[in-house]
Amino acid sequence: MNLHEYQGKEILNSFGVEIQRGIVAQTPAEAVEAAKKLTEETGTGWHVIKAQVHAGGRGKGGGVKLAKNLKEVEEIAGDIIGMNLVTPQTSKEGKKVNQVLITEDVYYPGDSEPEEYYMSVLLNRATGKNMIMYSTEGGMNIETVAEETPHLIFNEEVDPSLGLMPFQARRVAFNLGLSGKAFKQMTKFVTALYKAYTESDSSLFEINPVLKTSDDKIIAVDAKVTLDDNALFRHKDYAAMRDIREENPVEVEAREAGLSYVDLDGNVGCMVNGAGLAMATMDLIKQAGGEPANFLDVGGTADAERVETAFNLILKDPSVKAILVNIFGGIVRCDRVAQGIVDAYKNMGNIDVPIIVRLQGTNADKAKELIDNSGLAVESAVEFQEAADKVHAVLS
Ligand code: GDP
Ligand code: MN
Repeated sequence: MNLHEYQGKEILNSFGVEIQRGIVAQTPAEAVEAAKKLTEETGTGWHVIKAQVHAGGRGKGGGVKLAKNLKEVEEIAGDIIGMNLVTPQTSKEGKKVNQVLITEDVYYPGDSEPEEYYMSVLLNRATGKNMIMYSTEGGMNIETVAEETPHLIFNEEVDPSLGLMPFQARRVAFNLGLSGKAFKQMTKFVTALYKAYTESDSSLFEINPVLKTSDDKIIAVDAKVTLDDNALFRHKDYAAMRDIREENPVEVEAREAGLSYVDLDGNVGCMVNGAGLAMATMDLIKQAGGEPANFLDVGGTADAERVETAFNLILKDPSVKAILVNIFGGIVRCDRVAQGIVDAYKNMGNIDVPIIVRLQGTNADKAKELIDNSGLAVESAVEFQEAADKVHAVLS
């Protein structure tokens, strides 16, 4: 689950990571109130207005702006709230901005040498260890740094049984070229950041930029946080941070129905029980010359209701040209699933894309009979290859 910048910063702050202070606002009037409060608390004269959407590169798209007085705060907040923000990380249509973060200005006027670093914490799947990835080249796209100046990106891998060792935090500060107070502040920052990452059960932290001010403060100016969905049950307060306005509406609906659904770019909708079979089915679709339009695991209990919900979800995607149902009847009997498909089909009236159904396992024969005799435009297949051939036939 992805978080907004302001939510990510809240989590960082709760673990003692220094952050650029801010208050979220839904309206220009709230933005002005927030700015006044920040001036009282931090003494800041200028403020930054930052669009809160689940996408990076906001600065480039005009979603991060500096305001030098309260009138500008109000004007800029008015411009940004409600705008469709297009950044290198959004689609062409962009993302609607529902709220802004008003922050203190941490780039002091007249500070000619603020340093910006890049820092992320993530799992290195090749070694099975968490790592801190960091660079002297902050504030810019890290993919570009990786391509053009890979020697400026450093990694610190953490042994899971030891955790982050003090010498490792010092090495980070050293590699970033720091000394004196800034060195100390950076080791504190890294230590707190790593603790926040592990204790919040996150799968990604990306702080770009981490700022060093001329008076040697180390501050998180941005925060991209991805939490591990499978650990949300033990962080009820984080789970409540979900903003479904930022998520794919079909995926939200699927989650609410207890189905596991991931939207993809292809043209063949799939309905499968079991994640492994779903992966194999997606391979099958590719071999047949199609592209899966989604990953959908209806789970072990594929009854009529779930099947109907699943059909509904798949059909919401206008690029779907065919649907492949591939169900293994182990716990659930194939004939019951077949009946579910027939019922769902009848309930829904006219489904105008071809449907190929492969039911294998307990009572597969009965299931095939049911489908073949239903009088509906549903094709049945028994073998995997047969299903693939039928998908190929309807696509060509
Ligand atoms: P992103 O573009 O979505 O990554 O958003 P960021 O939060 O990283 O902000 C974009 C850029 O805005 C940063 O790289 C900074 O250069 C600038 N910025 C952020 N905070 C401040 C601030 O307090 N003062 C000034 N002057 N610039 C800021
Ligand atoms: Mn950023």
